[in-house]
Amino acid sequence: MTAVEPSAPDAGTDIFAAERISRVFGTGRNAVTAVDGVSFVLKEKAITTIVGESGSGKSTIARMVLGLLPVSSGTMSFDGRDVTTLSSTARIAYWRDVQAVFQDPFSAFNQFFTVRRLLNRSLRMLDKVSAKERLEEALGHVDMGLDVLDRFPHQLSGGQRQRIMIARALMLRPRLLVADEATSMLDASLRVNILNVLTDLRDQLGMTVLFITHDIGQACYIADKVLVMENGVLVEQGPTDDVIFNPQHEYTQRLLADVPRLHESA
Ligand code: ADP
Ligand code: MG
Repeated sequence: MTAVEPSAPDAGTDIFAAERISRVFGTGRNAVTAVDGVSFVLKEKAITTIVGESGSGKSTIARMVLGLLPVSSGTMSFDGRDVTTLSSTARIAYWRDVQAVFQDPFSAFNQFFTVRRLLNRSLRMLDKVSAKERLEEALGHVDMGLDVLDRFPHQLSGGQRQRIMIARALMLRPRLLVADEATSMLDASLRVNILNVLTDLRDQLGMTVLFITHDIGQACYIADKVLVMENGVLVEQGPTDDVIFNPQHEYTQRLLADVPRLHESA
């Protein structure tokens, strides 16, 4: 007889783990410890948020998780593999699994390029047959049709642009999506729309999301688990309800106090 293992209610394996990662910029008297010995895990198929004021080290963590910036110390693993330092070949393979969306969609792109041309770069990583399929599939996930492909950036709203950036990330069918202030430039209604796109991706595709924001209201709206950063240090982490209703750290309490009527509106 085989024993049946009961699964925990929040079962889900850890897809990503950071252990005491730090990042120091500069040297000597000018050294700034942007991230100081931060450890966390990302559960598969869950949304984890990093919240903290501007300058608390959130984007530095995002860039280290994405392999865009080397850690000064500590280790990181993805799906059981060490990803602390990646060769340029290994990094490209890693980016099939781990994709990102940033605050300012399209800022890095030529304004005279159509959406099709913009997306083509990602498509080049795929063969022709799967490319067309993936494109339709990815645009579908963000509620857009193929007609958007012939538009130019200025013909799109901020919310549409950000949905295209999400589609662009999804085309590679990543397992982890990192969103760094991806909703910060949007109006409130468009912001909720993007937050809902992300929760749909979790629910429908089993996407793991690392959502980074300075706004604890958004963090609590979307997250399964919240990590709170203050001055490079992870001061508190826990399931969202615990952090909202029973914040342990004075800094978290202060962030929550700055959100009027969060309990009613979230
Ligand atoms: P956040 O995303 O929470 O606003 P960042 O991770 O961007 O914070 O920045 C954390 C700290 O690290 C800040 O003090 C910032 O000035 C510093 N920092 C970030 N990137 C660099 C860099 N490339 N060179 C020097 N200092 C940096
Ligand atoms: Mg930032």
